[in-house]
Amino acid sequence: MRILLKDFTILPAAGGPKEHLSLLIEGGRISRIGAAAKLGDGPFDRVIEGRGKLVMPGLVNAHTHLPMVLFRGYADDLPLRQWLEEAIWPAERKLKPEEVYWAALLGIAELLHSGVTAFADMYFFMDEVARAVEESGIRAQLAYGMIASDAAQEERELAKGLELADRWHGAAGGRLQVALGPHAPYTCGRSLWQRATEAAQQRGLMLHTHLAETEAEVVESLQRHGQSPVEYLEGLGAFAAPMLAAHCVHLSERDIEILAEHGVHAVHNPTSNMKLGSGIAPVRRLLEAGVNVALGTDGAASNNDLDMWEELRLAALLAKVGGDPTALPAPEALSLATVNGARALGLNEAGKLEEGSTADLVILDLDRPHLVPQYDLVSNLVYAAHAADVETVLVAGEIVMEEREIKSFDEGEVKAKVREISRKYR
Ligand SMILES: [Zn+2]
Repeated sequence: MRILLKDFTILPAAGGPKEHLSLLIEGGRISRIGAAAKLGDGPFDRVIEGRGKLVMPGLVNAHTHLPMVLFRGYADDLPLRQWLEEAIWPAERKLKPEEVYWAALLGIAELLHSGVTAFADMYFFMDEVARAVEESGIRAQLAYGMIASDAAQEERELAKGLELADRWHGAAGGRLQVALGPHAPYTCGRSLWQRATEAAQQRGLMLHTHLAETEAEVVESLQRHGQSPVEYLEGLGAFAAPMLAAHCVHLSERDIEILAEHGVHAVHNPTSNMKLGSGIAPVRRLLEAGVNVALGTDGAASNNDLDMWEELRLAALLAKVGGDPTALPAPEALSLATVNGARALGLNEAGKLEEGSTADLVILDLDRPHLVPQYDLVSNLVYAAHAADVETVLVAGEIVMEEREIKSFDEGEVKAKVREISRKYR
């Protein structure tokens, strides 16, 4: 495919927007950026006109549990333990692989509509999620969430995680990556953590986990190990493999130093942390310490949507709640959802619009009442834009959604299937 995006406002990774520029996309990459007249002659497979529109890097949802869209609004406003033990886990025990497939496609539809081009996921029946990713054209890093309390379980869980990697790592033309997913320091034993880390190192995979989400987790870790969850994982050597660590809410100064030293990628999940009453992650201190902080929605059961624009705005606002309105200014907030997210998933050529970078990008309509006037485009994006402003999404240079219509699958069919499946859980 040779696609010309003609006469757009462009937002590269850093710095402000540039007007009246065109982008040539060839072989899945941005091959040239410049004035339309200088981008060579056609023929082009497609020309997309950009007057009144913005092209910017696709957003990265760096922590979610995609199939949980099936449990959107299923059980809200409960304490975390009761929510899990009495509502979510019993429902999940009834899940069938086929249901996970349809739920994953619904989640992908929602992600595409909000301009997400890549996501990191942790759940089970992950072959079904992989199939949905492959068919939909989106990019993803998938992990099977391992939970084990004894040796036999440990064998089974590790085998499932490794089999997923055998089958899918690097699949779908490289759009699909697999990570190993020990669920949390408190749901996997020492030996599973060490074996997963070793396997990740040998195979060149990342680890994806939940870390220091609640105060109770920290208290329990101090009682059991005499160490915080971060110190405990460091002691196990778990940071020897690159790691995506969701939440990172309850951290000591020493914890933050450890995360920075080992290059751990922290994923901020503001809505989930607010909704489950977990607390406020110290995003500013993490960034100041040099930790790469990305942004995620977490699962739809604790959010209840996968809207990264909302997440972006909440991240920028929540950072200020402590009393400092200069914390996490708009350009820095936007980086969490774009370039930092791409880096967190190991996508070093995505998250920015430069010649040579991966063509994972989104087109927004700027001709909307809430985006007028435009003194500062980035400020408008962070504090005023909505998912509904996203019109078109390209992943690896392929048009996956155009004018809000998903090209790769039938969104109507997916919604009907999930409505039908949801009857079982009423
Ligand atoms: Zn999570």
